[in-house]
Amino acid sequence: MGVVRTEVCEASGVPGTRRRAQAAADLSALKETVAACTACGLCRTRTQTVFGDGAEGGTRPARILFVGEAPGQQEDEQGVPFVGPAGRLLTDIIEKGMGIPRDSVYIANVLKCRPPNNRDPSPEEKALCTPFLDRQIELVDPEVLIPLGRHATQHLLGSEEPMGRLRNRVHRPTGRLAGRKVIPTYHPAYLLREPARKKDCWADIQLAMDELGLPRTGRAATE
Ligand code: URA
Repeated sequence: MGVVRTEVCEASGVPGTRRRAQAAADLSALKETVAACTACGLCRTRTQTVFGDGAEGGTRPARILFVGEAPGQQEDEQGVPFVGPAGRLLTDIIEKGMGIPRDSVYIANVLKCRPPNNRDPSPEEKALCTPFLDRQIELVDPEVLIPLGRHATQHLLGSEEPMGRLRNRVHRPTGRLAGRKVIPTYHPAYLLREPARKKDCWADIQLAMDELGLPRTGRAATE
């Protein structure tokens, strides 16, 4: 009689992604873990995962970590976060505004895969993917996190308050982000739709520069 085998599957769900994320010893290992992820349905529609950008393709730590929402079409095609129109504005904010090279900061997203048609990430997708972001934060080890827009800000701060109440402040969270500063600002895609808000973004960025001791030599790239 044949032996009936029961496949022992890898632990699934949030505990599964958390275990796989925590097992990654460095950013290169975490990038490979993310590239192999099939925890949610986005693995069937993505072209590729979009891990992070920064020195050496996002495998070196940085003092500043920008966190967006999820890759868009161009990011999905190129495998790099913030390379489309919103990304060009973010690059200007970093290079012309802050006066530092884009590859001296780290850029990541809450989701590592593009939601089809750029829809909002679902609560389940966020829950499954955030262990990767949490591990990325530990490994990048930034002093300052700058979440871009509502999804990233509310996730990092564990808050449901609107952006208007969360930005323009330096948050000093307890728990997994203890010791880091969180300075939220508007998402660049929102700024492209609402240019009148660019001056608020610039105020947030200057707050971050003050916290980092960066000289205010740049100009308001958001103007
Ligand atoms: N918007 C995001 O939130 N992230 C990207 O990488 C691109 C656009």
